[in-house]
Amino acid sequence: MSVQVDHAAPALRESLPLFVLGTGSDPRSERGVSCPGELPAASDPALVRRAERARAVLGDRAFILGHHYQRDEVIRFADVTGDSFKLAREAAARPGAEFVIFCGVHFMAESADMLTSPSQRVILPDLAAGCSMADMATYSQVEECWENLEDLGIADSVVPVTYMNSSADIKAFTGRHGGTVCTSSNARRALDWALRKGSKVLFLPDQHLGRNTAVLEMGLSLDDCVVWDPRRPGGGLEAGALRRATMILWRGHCSVHGRFTAQNVAAVRARIPGVQVLVHPECVHDVVLAADQVGSTERIISVIEQAPAGSAWAVGTELNLVRRLADTHPDKTVVFLDKTVCYCSTMNRIDLPHLVWVMESLAGGQVVNQITVDDQTAAQARAALDQMLALP
Ligand code: SF4
Repeated sequence: MSVQVDHAAPALRESLPLFVLGTGSDPRSERGVSCPGELPAASDPALVRRAERARAVLGDRAFILGHHYQRDEVIRFADVTGDSFKLAREAAARPGAEFVIFCGVHFMAESADMLTSPSQRVILPDLAAGCSMADMATYSQVEECWENLEDLGIADSVVPVTYMNSSADIKAFTGRHGGTVCTSSNARRALDWALRKGSKVLFLPDQHLGRNTAVLEMGLSLDDCVVWDPRRPGGGLEAGALRRATMILWRGHCSVHGRFTAQNVAAVRARIPGVQVLVHPECVHDVVLAADQVGSTERIISVIEQAPAGSAWAVGTELNLVRRLADTHPDKTVVFLDKTVCYCSTMNRIDLPHLVWVMESLAGGQVVNQITVDDQTAAQARAALDQMLALP
């Protein structure tokens, strides 16, 4: 983990101006688009000291969660790091924290709001930090799909399963129709449960996690899976195909993990003899087939931690995490699977200026960027989350 050192003279640090969004200019930084107030410049040399000061003022009133894909400059201020599921549980386990500052993306902050008490406030440092995968399944699209299944007379046999990486609306839809949430760690258990309850699954919103789990872990065939395209009438599927399918996969994907190719795997094997390829199940099926191991973010971290010194690994997941793994395990070779840069652009929206801005605002008594889920949506979504926690 890199450590930033504040070398600026105290007088210079104190005199640097804060730019009101849209009125100042800072050519060295890209400005966030959604902060209603004053955002420090990324080039402000006093940023780290300001963050430390605001963090100290907030003390136990705030708890900072940092997703594994966050930048080093943000992760260093996290009280705990984890994947989306671990962080949601960590948020729920901190009833004493008045503010839960979620350094991650929007759907994660929604889950945290649903799992914390009404008196706690969940803060997302940049409201523009969404998730392209979650955005690929909107509530109206999913409702339309379900109406199609009802018209075909098969909705009663379909159990919805939604990945954690979905909006609160989609989790609520899932809860309302007797389904469950899943993570990349428990997708197999969720699908086993769903296929005991019904004969088909509507898997939202990541087609790759659904396909990889069904085919590689449960022994279903690719022919048992169809892909519902929300942009085409009837999902682009014939009625017969929907009736025959066991897995109805939503046409959604992660824009980060979806970039890896089987050619990347072949190229790294040619470049690094003996390398083992470790990828996330959000990768496309061909990549997972070509890899040596597949696992959730937490599993990827644990595999690298436990790997013997001298071993070589090409990791197919978000670049911030792969770089940190390489930095913290210098006795092993850890490389990024792709040759080109592959950050999650929305995760990267949370940077130190945004974190400083929310902490200083909260310390000054102004609540900013609070994420709330309405009571009815939260109750229905919690039914699907509770079902996940009760999975056998
Ligand atoms: S890595 Fe993929 S799934 Fe995760 S937040 Fe980014 S776009 Fe969404």
